[in-house]
Amino acid sequence: MTSMEHDRWARVQGRLRSTVGEDVYTSWFARMDLESVQGESVHMSVPTRFLKSWIQAHYADRVLSCWQAELPEVHRIDLTVRSAMRCAPPVKDAKAAGDERRADRVTPATMEARGAGPMPVSANHEALGGSPLDPRLTFDSFVLGRSNTLAHAAARQVAEGRRGDPVMFNPLYIHAGVGLGKTHLLQAVTWAGNAGGERKVLYLTVEKFMYGFVAALKTQTALAFKEALRGIDVLVIDDLQFLQGKSTQAEFCHTLNALIDAGRQVVIAADRPPSELETLDDRVRSRLAGGLVVEMGTLGEELRLDILKSRVAAARAHHSGFDVPLPVLEYLAKAITHNGRDLEGAVNRLLAHSKLNAQPVTLEMAEREVRDLVRPQEPKRVKIEDIQRVVARQYNVSRSDLLSSRRTANVVRPRQVAMYLAKTLTLRSLPEIGRRFGGRDHTTVLHAVRKIEALVGKDVALADEVELLKRQLQD
Ligand code: ADP
Ligand code: MG
Repeated sequence: MTSMEHDRWARVQGRLRSTVGEDVYTSWFARMDLESVQGESVHMSVPTRFLKSWIQAHYADRVLSCWQAELPEVHRIDLTVRSAMRCAPPVKDAKAAGDERRADRVTPATMEARGAGPMPVSANHEALGGSPLDPRLTFDSFVLGRSNTLAHAAARQVAEGRRGDPVMFNPLYIHAGVGLGKTHLLQAVTWAGNAGGERKVLYLTVEKFMYGFVAALKTQTALAFKEALRGIDVLVIDDLQFLQGKSTQAEFCHTLNALIDAGRQVVIAADRPPSELETLDDRVRSRLAGGLVVEMGTLGEELRLDILKSRVAAARAHHSGFDVPLPVLEYLAKAITHNGRDLEGAVNRLLAHSKLNAQPVTLEMAEREVRDLVRPQEPKRVKIEDIQRVVARQYNVSRSDLLSSRRTANVVRPRQVAMYLAKTLTLRSLPEIGRRFGGRDHTTVLHAVRKIEALVGKDVALADEVELLKRQLQD
């Protein structure tokens, strides 16, 4: 842009700002950029579809007349959605964030005045469009162990914050495998955070988040959705790994930036760290990694025993005749190693069995009842970086050789082996693997996988090598 164009754009922005007012300007136009001016048409862009449709529906004429005041020949405004996401905004100081918060028109108080009134936490929560909450998933029923102490402490801190407190880490990002307590912790934050009635904590699964945006766009109530989000003190999003689609990502990115910039707390759970959310844009990932990232490890045996005890105690509150002797609990804690869901399932089965047959719980009965929950150890989650590191070491090449475009035999084979292992030991798709191997095409990965599969069938030495590598990676 020339400096003349730049000045003109600044004047158009100034006009727009004074026509619509500061608040509206900040809400809708702050992220609108000028792309080009050609003859009678002006091309501008916004980061999200949602902004585009809103501006077109409500402000198209005013935008046009602000332009015409500067450049009378303009007769057309084109608005597009920028494909590149701007997810790493300049760092704002606390004061600016505070000012922005005060500038917000839609506060929880105004939402209340619209007839929300005080409501029980869960009804209120669902009225705001939140996902349903399970009343059992609270801090009281969350059992502490070595693997979850840090995540629990961070979650508590968030839940106990008061409106206007400085936000310590944002976003709080918790990751762990299936059944290790992510949803439990997130819902606990939501229950506890809403309990005082002072703050609004909204829990959304990522599907609900996506559905919320799509539905809002279809019914033209984008404003309602945005307003609801603006009235939230803490936004809690579960299962972020399911976030899909470029435009939804852009909406997510926009919401994340807006909330964080306004000093609102965001809490996120996913089954992997931000760096492994491979379908997400780099800038979203770095924003996610910019707060506090905490992993919850697998449940240790001691923790499993404590969870079982607390589950049995909870069941006894309603079924006084139910009792599980300690040796049975210890057996279950040793045998069911996978996740909290199976522990819960085991207790439910013992309860059902003892009720239906009016029999006390014995070790023998327990062994029979939970047989199918006792599975061999799940294979460890293997990371692509680990595969690259182990393969590079094995073949005495560097990791950057593997990612490079070099095609000498001493690099090509190890690279193919590494891609093959990435396909067989992780759940990553071919395009994702290609991206992680120096931006290769998915057909290259497919070729490597087929090649090694074929060779392993014929070449015993290679088969042994591959087996050894697998074992190293899975131990
Ligand atoms: P995730 O969302 O990580 O897949 P959940 O939060 O749904 O896992 O947990 C699965 C089950 O295990 C739930 O019934 C949950 O209450 C239980 N659970 C997991 N961790 C704990 C814990 N630390 N204390 C009590 N229950 C737990
Ligand atoms: Mg979950």
